[in-house]
Amino acid sequence: MSLDFVIDNAVLPGRAGLWSIGVAAGKVAEIAPEIAGEVPREDAGGCLLSPGLVECHIHLDKAEILGRVTIKEGTLSEAVRETARAKAGFTEEDVYRRASQVVERAVLNGTMAMRTFVEIDPRAGMRSFAALKRVKADYAHLIGIQICAFAQEGLSNEAETEPMLVAALEQGADLVGGCPYTDPDPTGHVSRIFDLAQRFGVDADFHVDFDLRPERADLPEIIRQTERRGYQGRVACGHVTKLAAMPTDAVDAIAARLAAVGVGVITLPATDLFLLGRDSKGLVPRGFAPLMQLRAQGALTAVATNNVLNPFTPYGDANLMRIANLYANVAQLSRDEDLAAAFAMVTSDAARMIGRKAEIAVGTSADLVLLDAASVSDAVRRVVQPLKGWKAGRLSFERPRGRVVG
Ligand SMILES: [Zn+2]
Repeated sequence: MSLDFVIDNAVLPGRAGLWSIGVAAGKVAEIAPEIAGEVPREDAGGCLLSPGLVECHIHLDKAEILGRVTIKEGTLSEAVRETARAKAGFTEEDVYRRASQVVERAVLNGTMAMRTFVEIDPRAGMRSFAALKRVKADYAHLIGIQICAFAQEGLSNEAETEPMLVAALEQGADLVGGCPYTDPDPTGHVSRIFDLAQRFGVDADFHVDFDLRPERADLPEIIRQTERRGYQGRVACGHVTKLAAMPTDAVDAIAARLAAVGVGVITLPATDLFLLGRDSKGLVPRGFAPLMQLRAQGALTAVATNNVLNPFTPYGDANLMRIANLYANVAQLSRDEDLAAAFAMVTSDAARMIGRKAEIAVGTSADLVLLDAASVSDAVRRVVQPLKGWKAGRLSFERPRGRVVG
């Protein structure tokens, strides 16, 4: 097969030494210590060539709205309240413009797949959904976007929302998402979301917990229903912060169930650290799910951005390497293998979380990011910048190294 180009002298995740990667027709066609032949070449210079990064949990619809909201408490209830007020004023063009900005920033940070939530309810109407469908189509050559039709503000308390979710699923939403903690009937909420997922044959994604009280958790019900409905490997749970407040043996027992039933857990460290522990007097807890403990039992884990510049997270740059570093720092990771796990949580494991693959292997799509790092652990430790990316073998961005002058 004739190659379109070759990337030489690359470090690959999980392999020792330097490698050449041959790309043909948008796919990885060859991986070898050296690839001979007259073909355009790129010198990786001993840097890390990674699969495209995977943002498995983000809210494009409500990103970049700090100018429209007031943050006085920094609490979850204030964030939900302020965002509900702001989203009633969202127009399709407004959502499209803000979401596009975040997507372009994500692309420049090496992200090539993304699962975004979109709130669908009487306040948002279908406007945000319409906007994100356009964003998904317009950026498809740079990033694969999944749209999760999401009931942020409950179902049983608002009869209009469920038919709107159905309409979104009929009109191309990729999956359905629920938020039992905002519903007066959390167990019924979980059932309704699973019913919708099964009816349309799509995955389910839940926002679980948002407090540090171990009692009355929704996760066991989600695990039970996943098992009963045969939905293994198709359910992701974001936050799950109550795990941070549980004794070690209780977390181990839940982790074993998560692994056996195929339910994944995503920590959103920027949000969890910002919103939780506000009522603590004195020492403020870290308050996010103990992912390394879950992984040790074989559970699937990932970290993600969640929100960008809104009342849930008044920070953000859609930079997954920064989020992996934030997670590693606050989780007190130091060994190379643990930093490598943090890297997997924004690449291969994040991809599995959303039913995709992110790996560099012969026959896979050439979604490649060259990072200015010597290894995956180095990339996380130093929050390195991506230098260049190829989506399906086509150059999708370039960010030349800065240089000191003088
Ligand atoms: Zn979220």
